[in-house]
Amino acid sequence: MVDNAQNEAGDQLTDHWARLDAFLRTDPRDAGCDATKDMLDVYAECLATGSDPSERFPGPHAHFLACGPCAQDLNGLLTALTGETSSRPSPP
Ligand SMILES: [Zn+2]
Repeated sequence: MVDNAQNEAGDQLTDHWARLDAFLRTDPRDAGCDATKDMLDVYAECLATGSDPSERFPGPHAHFLACGPCAQDLNGLLTALTGETSSRPSPP
């Protein structure tokens, strides 16, 4: 009865708080939007060439995980990079 209603509401509330918590708890390495946008093309090129930029650019990496708009920018740039490359290096 009331228990059920509370349970459902509680689950939703927990999810909500979890999201808010994740949103508020920024990674200390998070470089922020401005610094990440400066590194966006370099970071995307790293990904496009198949290397892992997360170690070289931990700040932007942490930011892409936390910031949806910047992650979308990265995705778009990456698509443009890999899509336009006609001579993609083929794996051996
Ligand atoms: Zn951002």
